[in-house]
Amino acid sequence: MSAIIKVDRLTRIFDVSKPWLNRVIERLPRALLTAVSEVSFEVEENSVYALVGESGSGKSTIGKIIVGLVSPSGGKVEIEGVDLASEKDPGRIDSVRADIQMIFQDPYASLNPRWRVRNIIAEPVAARGGNTEGLAERLLEQVGLSAADAGKYPHEFSGGQRQRICIARALSSEPKIIVCDEPTSALDVSVQSQVLNLMSDLREEFGLTYLFISHDLTVVRHMADKVGVLYLGRLVEEAPRDALFGDPKHPYTRMLFDAAPRMDAFGRDIEPPRGEIPDAINPPSGCAFHPRCPLAVARCSRERPEMRQLGQTRVACHLAE
Ligand code: SF4
Ligand code: MG
Repeated sequence: MSAIIKVDRLTRIFDVSKPWLNRVIERLPRALLTAVSEVSFEVEENSVYALVGESGSGKSTIGKIIVGLVSPSGGKVEIEGVDLASEKDPGRIDSVRADIQMIFQDPYASLNPRWRVRNIIAEPVAARGGNTEGLAERLLEQVGLSAADAGKYPHEFSGGQRQRICIARALSSEPKIIVCDEPTSALDVSVQSQVLNLMSDLREEFGLTYLFISHDLTVVRHMADKVGVLYLGRLVEEAPRDALFGDPKHPYTRMLFDAAPRMDAFGRDIEPPRGEIPDAINPPSGCAFHPRCPLAVARCSRERPEMRQLGQTRVACHLAE
């Protein structure tokens, strides 16, 4: 197996200072938010790689950089060996762009309400001048809807059906990679597993590779071959699914697992995660997790831990063994 996506020391910094305020108060320091910091990982062809973390961990930004919606501030992404940010050949850029599609969390917001489903699904192919004859009808059947649905409008469908339409649209340009950003978290629990099972079936049928972005550990455990855990824009642990869930090595990964399913009979958290996520504009020194870490020692606030390989796991923690 070879890597179809290579992410190398990827960094993205956003300027979040307020321009209008800068005009009133001169010399206001620029507020820079490091959303993604030196993240490196590889995704094998025909596998599912999941990025997990709390909101603000940088996972959506990484997805958007990979599909080209956001540009990196540093580092690079190679898709099928091509770095889209530096590639000059327009033909190669087009063919790689067609190979990678994205599915978003909210199927309501990502479908044009005034378009018939036929045009929505065929649009990526039509935009490139391809043949769209019967395409939407074929794809609708592949995602478990009916060819007759092609003439309908998005409002005529349920949330789960709309996400199926989004999947059909993503498949229309015959991609190799689909970046899925929380694809089922806006759906009812009863519908989630149907959509996830469809995604698994399609992956097998078309040999797809998924980059699966989620905060939901149950979903990740169900879908992923390999998992990367993000904290404040940095990758803190990466391992094959069974190694990660069976033997999590980073204190933050363990905290995520502990926080996940523990509710009392009234649905209240019994043990809420310790501490809030710190400010990404002024992240803590050393290991950014140290203010929340139950194992932190003096060294943790001074020295940032490097990624180390421990068996099948890569982990960034001074104490992991
Ligand atoms: Fe905790 Fe220190 Fe490991 Fe960071 S490096 S996770 S603070 S033990
Ligand atoms: Mg997000």
